[in-house]
Amino acid sequence: MTINLKNVPTPCYVAYEEKLKENLAKIDEIQKRTGCKVLLALKAFAMFSVFNLYKGKIVGTCVSSLNEAKLGKEKFGGEVHLYSAAYREDEIDQLVRYSDKIIFNSFSQWNKFREKVKKSNNNIDCGIRVNPEYSKVKIELYDPCCKGSRLGVTLAEFHEKELEGINGLHFHNHCGNNSDVLEETLKVVGEKFGDIIKKMKWVNFGGGQSITEPGYDIDRLCNNISAFKKEYGVEVILEPGEAFAYDAGVLVTSVLDIMHNDIDIAILDCSAVAHMPDVVEMPYKPIITGASKEKEFPYVYRLAGPTCLAGDIIGEYSFPQPLKLGDKIVLEDMLQYTMVKNNTFNGINLPSIAIHSEEKGLNVIKTFTYEDYKSRLS
Ligand SMILES: *Cc1c(COP(=O)(O)O)cnc(C)c1O
Repeated sequence: MTINLKNVPTPCYVAYEEKLKENLAKIDEIQKRTGCKVLLALKAFAMFSVFNLYKGKIVGTCVSSLNEAKLGKEKFGGEVHLYSAAYREDEIDQLVRYSDKIIFNSFSQWNKFREKVKKSNNNIDCGIRVNPEYSKVKIELYDPCCKGSRLGVTLAEFHEKELEGINGLHFHNHCGNNSDVLEETLKVVGEKFGDIIKKMKWVNFGGGQSITEPGYDIDRLCNNISAFKKEYGVEVILEPGEAFAYDAGVLVTSVLDIMHNDIDIAILDCSAVAHMPDVVEMPYKPIITGASKEKEFPYVYRLAGPTCLAGDIIGEYSFPQPLKLGDKIVLEDMLQYTMVKNNTFNGINLPSIAIHSEEKGLNVIKTFTYEDYKSRLS
């Protein structure tokens, strides 16, 4: 994908329409082959100006708060499947209004809200999130089955007698995993909760499957979904987030200054902590177009953000030519878990948001101003 960088105001996220469509096509193939339902996890990617690409292709969104539920209903339409570790008493009436399915994280939450949900006229379908206590996620921050996890009911805490009114189970224990891990999970889930699943109408396998990444074994995913449906007689739901946006857009940034302290340092107009928090949290080093993460090229720079945080560092990269002030740098695969997580730390502006299509070229659809910063303070 080549875009004319001259026209991109920086910093700016650019979503590539064709790549989003390619990802969607791969995901849709799974629906067609297995008859499962797929939802978009707004937690990962909530760029609503591209939701029109998904309409009629997937049934709706999975959401984790009242704000996401409203956005799902208003901008995406279709079904809204809600899950949160705990619901607020003062929001439950609205949550019931905006949701089609509500998944509870504990039996105490279910017992607290079941009457409210039943009395609403919305025909809400209810589920319980279980914790399979099995995962292959290596980073504890992202492991829903880490020791002492609050995410889902463990088998020891499962109250089979309180299941009346519950139609489905939900689990989510993957993060960037391939389908062999899902296969293992399904074995564990079957052993632990198989008898209960036979009484359910649906099971939601959560997100975290890297369906659209190269090397993902889609056949294995489809075989597992089909076998599970057959064995338990349930509908299967997937709710990936990252997979929809994977490698479908970039963050374009400019070099503001170059300085030296033992190493050459390029200060950019985007920030790791404010605009790509996963780079610091995970941590990981994004790919940069035309540069190397290793010392492959002669000109090595540490790329860093403009904020006052010492650790606002993206990483060290080598370039075939020296960097110059005003150069544009393209950070790849920057759509998921960026816009939804961004903050205005140090008062620096949020990156603009643009969409690029082969047919229409670049369209900057959103720029942020002082008002956006101010509106979150008082
Ligand atoms: C984070 C999350 C997702 C989406 O995960 P991805 O890794 O973006 O696919 C789906 N469901 C739940 C419950 C989640 O917490």
